[in-house]
Amino acid sequence: MSKMRVVQVSRPNGPFEIVEREIPAAGAGAVRIKVEACGICHSDTLTKTGSFPGIQYPRVPGHEAVGVVDAVGAGVAGWTVGQRVGVGWHGGHCGRCDNCRRGDFFACEVAHQITGISFDGGYGEYMIAPAVALARLPDGLTPVEAAPLMCAGLTTFNALRNSGARPGDVVAVLGLGGLGHLGVQYAVKMGFKTVAIARGKDKEPLAKKLGAWRYVDSQAQDPAVELSKLGGAKVVLATVTNGDAMSATMGGLGVRGTLMILGAPPSLTVSPFVLIAGQRSIQGWYSGTSIDSQDTLSYSVQTGVRSMNEVFPLERVNEAYERMMSGKARFRVVLTTGK
Ligand SMILES: [Zn+2]
Ligand SMILES: [Zn+2]
Repeated sequence: MSKMRVVQVSRPNGPFEIVEREIPAAGAGAVRIKVEACGICHSDTLTKTGSFPGIQYPRVPGHEAVGVVDAVGAGVAGWTVGQRVGVGWHGGHCGRCDNCRRGDFFACEVAHQITGISFDGGYGEYMIAPAVALARLPDGLTPVEAAPLMCAGLTTFNALRNSGARPGDVVAVLGLGGLGHLGVQYAVKMGFKTVAIARGKDKEPLAKKLGAWRYVDSQAQDPAVELSKLGGAKVVLATVTNGDAMSATMGGLGVRGTLMILGAPPSLTVSPFVLIAGQRSIQGWYSGTSIDSQDTLSYSVQTGVRSMNEVFPLERVNEAYERMMSGKARFRVVLTTGK
């Protein structure tokens, strides 16, 4: 009864190992979660490959974890056994450093915790999470529905709502994958004239089904030209990891338009003249903290935004991860524990 199965990685580029461990106790300031579902995010490669600086092994990946509070550690206020919760990328912060005191918890310099990297994440039957990392799950979302919203949903929702775009503005979403298919839905629900940009004519029906106002096939059309015809984009939400694809949209930004970067290509070529002439800008966006996740979940219930998911049981983690890495998943991959 006191054992659990988790999926761990023991060394950089090591295989996923399904192991039995003692179910850990919830320490001070933390809760234990009986995990029901956990999304597989491309950032889990940081744990798999060891490319995140300072990561220690063995480590259980997973920062799109959803489940039920199963035990509450000492000093935790406001959380009780039986509550449905989610845990995302942002696993904690010190609350005392200069950045934290300015409310920029994502930039904590002292104790920035990342779920599945700094501590064990959601690829398992139980996990321990700092209470500060918890988002309350609303009724109306199943664990599988909620899991991808904890990172992919949060990242796109939070970037869009902080982008400065207003209802009626042209907002382009570059890429129609795991992030992009959510980004289009949120942009539509926020009242933007939403332009989906992806490669190939075959993605147009999906873009329209998600509510996009226009579709641009970047293989057949020049995104900058097409966006300019629409008056220029207030925001281009770049969900791809291809720097050239991002660069190709910049000429389509309107005056004071912003290229919001969510995907991380190795490099990006920019025309300083384009930036100067239109007072355009490029901005990166960090996913968000636990309250941002909670807002994402709540907004998704309110507006009906959902991720399209492929679901695998925990023991098929290898297959599930390969599916994510193949880029062929439609569109997010979610592990379930059967709990
Ligand atoms: Zn992620
Ligand atoms: Zn701090």
